[in-house]
Amino acid sequence: MNTKTRLPDFSRYRIDFPLLQETNRGKPVIYLDSAASAQKPRQVIDAMADFYVRDYANIHRGIYELSERATRMYEETRETVRRYIHAAHKEEIVFVRGTTEGINLVAQSFGRSQWQQGDEVILSTMEHHSNIVPWYLLKEQIGVVLKVIPVTDSGAVDLEEYKKLFSPRTKMVAITHASNVLGTINPVKEITAFAHSMNVPVLVDGAQAAPHMPVDVQEIDCDFYVFSGHKIYGPTGIGVLYGKKALLDAMPPYQGGGDMIETVAFSKVTFAKTPQKFEAGTPDIAGVIGLGAAIRYMQAIGMENIYAHEQSLLHYAEPKLLAVPGLRLIGTATPKVGVISFVMDSIHPHDIGTVLDHEGVAVRAGHHCAMPLMERFNVPATVRASFGIYTNENDVDALFEAILLAKRLFA
Ligand SMILES: *Cc1c(COP(=O)(O)O)cnc(C)c1O
Repeated sequence: MNTKTRLPDFSRYRIDFPLLQETNRGKPVIYLDSAASAQKPRQVIDAMADFYVRDYANIHRGIYELSERATRMYEETRETVRRYIHAAHKEEIVFVRGTTEGINLVAQSFGRSQWQQGDEVILSTMEHHSNIVPWYLLKEQIGVVLKVIPVTDSGAVDLEEYKKLFSPRTKMVAITHASNVLGTINPVKEITAFAHSMNVPVLVDGAQAAPHMPVDVQEIDCDFYVFSGHKIYGPTGIGVLYGKKALLDAMPPYQGGGDMIETVAFSKVTFAKTPQKFEAGTPDIAGVIGLGAAIRYMQAIGMENIYAHEQSLLHYAEPKLLAVPGLRLIGTATPKVGVISFVMDSIHPHDIGTVLDHEGVAVRAGHHCAMPLMERFNVPATVRASFGIYTNENDVDALFEAILLAKRLFA
């Protein structure tokens, strides 16, 4: 990625986030849990409030000006999302509740409707539970077999082993773009190219990539791509499923209700076209408006700049943390997003988390919805610090000091 151009001064973005001006345990907020959810800039909060104050109405059915305005804003956001991930058509963008719902939609609509007992899905050891359990449900419902790509000691997917997992029964590869625990950015373009050479479609879980780097679904050539609004500085309750148009067109609806139909009689229902077919009921309209504002906010900074900013923090933080005796990083493969997981000799991750919390440092300690990965690295949990637009070296320094304190307390 091009990092030669000078980075903008990121301290001027931090003031856009009202919560970071608050205090936590009487101290300035040190927020290092963006991988769980990102804080919201004023621009997103205002866009949603303005929508409720000035433009609110239900969409797609009103014949009055307000509803037309709300519909226009909703549909314009579809175009904003299309550009953000560089999809070919705006009809390929489906609004869902988040990454989790997007994957469940694909598993049930694409998978369950056409797969048989003994058909296989390839996942990796580093998947979030959201990209395991929807496929596991298919194992229970129709007897689908899950095959798992191993992860190397540094935290990369083993591409040689990946290729060996294919069989004539392979129906799908579902893999994360970036790991929420290790930070590893997977070579999804190569992974997709190989799967396609075997005539197998690919779903990419973009929950940890969409906030941190430019995403181009046409370049990856994946068949499905999912991400959550709340991790890209937008609201909770909204997310995106991208699917190639030909696939979405052929898929049956996931849920039935209003807004996804053309005509309804008790004897026969005909469905709306993609993407309305997948958006049953009144959607999270304000959530979509907020999502659009979040994407515009990130694009004004520039995804390349966001990536470079977080890389520079990673390069600042990793050597600093590694200098702490007994601290071990889980996830040292490159490239990685701004996510640092670690464990310490003889101090349980939860105890570290408790000390950090007392110091006003918000990190996550636990299995991070990736239990198979904890088992792979033979740890009960990790402490995870994760970065965003607003993260600065002062946050990393506070983390470092709090770790030293935990070490003194538990030595
Ligand atoms: C957070 C996350 C999910 C789940 O996202 P939701 O917003 O909870 O649906 C899935 N995959 C990865 C890699 C994540 O980080």
